[in-house]
Amino acid sequence: MRFAGRTAVVTGGAQGIGAATARLLAEQGADVVVLDLDATKAQKVADTLPKGRALGCNVTDKDQVDAVFAEIGTVDVLVNNAGITRDNLLFKMPFDEWNAVLNTNLTSMFLCTQAAQKSMVRQRYGRIVNLSSRSALGARGQVNYAAAKAGVQGLTATLAIELGPFNITVNAVAPGYIATAMTAATAERVGSTPEDHQAQVAERTPLRRVGQPEEVAAVIAFLASDEASYVSGQTLYVNGGAR
Ligand code: NDP
Repeated sequence: MRFAGRTAVVTGGAQGIGAATARLLAEQGADVVVLDLDATKAQKVADTLPKGRALGCNVTDKDQVDAVFAEIGTVDVLVNNAGITRDNLLFKMPFDEWNAVLNTNLTSMFLCTQAAQKSMVRQRYGRIVNLSSRSALGARGQVNYAAAKAGVQGLTATLAIELGPFNITVNAVAPGYIATAMTAATAERVGSTPEDHQAQVAERTPLRRVGQPEEVAAVIAFLASDEASYVSGQTLYVNGGAR
């Protein structure tokens, strides 16, 4: 019960890595707020948690973000997980796909962190975990996503410097290929099935398999816990040993 008495907010918590994280934090005692675009979908996850509630929120919208964090009150743990992909080669990428990915994967973290740090600074305690990606190192067809996820690492390092004096740690997790709706959509886009696509990725991954949302959630929970109290400003790759 390492999160007993803590309130944790998980953005994009209605499915995938976010839902697995919400479940794990709640199983370990946290009062979890599941934030997602679709409040009904978020509520379905919250209903499965010992102590959970759901709020609809578009994390790219500053007014919505400020309103939900005002409603939540004190936040101990923030997991900035909401993300999207809109893959395209540079020469074909519409400007709105560039903007959508930067806003959802990077600007949302600025907005949510700015809102959450108010109570964290006041109480001199906070744990922030941001979702980066292996794609931050470069990925064909993902100029928007790679830039956003590399940005997450710079944001994380800088927030750790600014918020450290208030006993707030800020770290990033950079998953490789995790079996979720996001990677299933990628498979479809390249004309494959999720199973075939996963098998191809598994072949070139040292552990010879793709990752599961629970395996990322476990690392997020570690970084959000007091066991990681002297870890800050880091990006931890969770990618089966892939380079
Ligand atoms: P999913 O697509 O399964 O889940 C993402 C969730 O975020 C969805 O519920 C989605 O809602 C929600 N969301 C999207 N946009 C917004 C928004 N503007 N406001 C609020 N919620 C939003 O993704 P994963 O679980 O696969 O990924 C989670 C995170 O991990 C992302 O940041 C992703 O980039 C990162 N990641 C994932 C990897 C993977 O292989 N799966 C690898 C590396 C990083 P809706 O469905 O309604 O759009």
